[in-house]
Amino acid sequence: MIGAKNMSIQKKDCRNMNHGRTNPPVRFCPNCGEKLKSASVGSCDEEKHRSRRKDRNHFCHDCGKDLTKAF
Ligand SMILES: [Zn+2]
Ligand SMILES: [Zn+2]
Repeated sequence: MIGAKNMSIQKKDCRNMNHGRTNPPVRFCPNCGEKLKSASVGSCDEEKHRSRRKDRNHFCHDCGKDLTKAF
């Protein structure tokens, strides 16, 4: 058996507690950006992203945007 493991995408090394939840309060993991539930993506403005960046979130939990990148 070769390569079988690589076919399925394993969860990243992310310890955010939202991954274990059946109904997480956020759409995206703020730590790794993985989509946690299928819901319509919220519309964010940069003000929201700025405050989330201050909270040291790497990703916006509403739209999944990478907050570490310049906008
Ligand atoms: Zn995560
Ligand atoms: Zn956003």
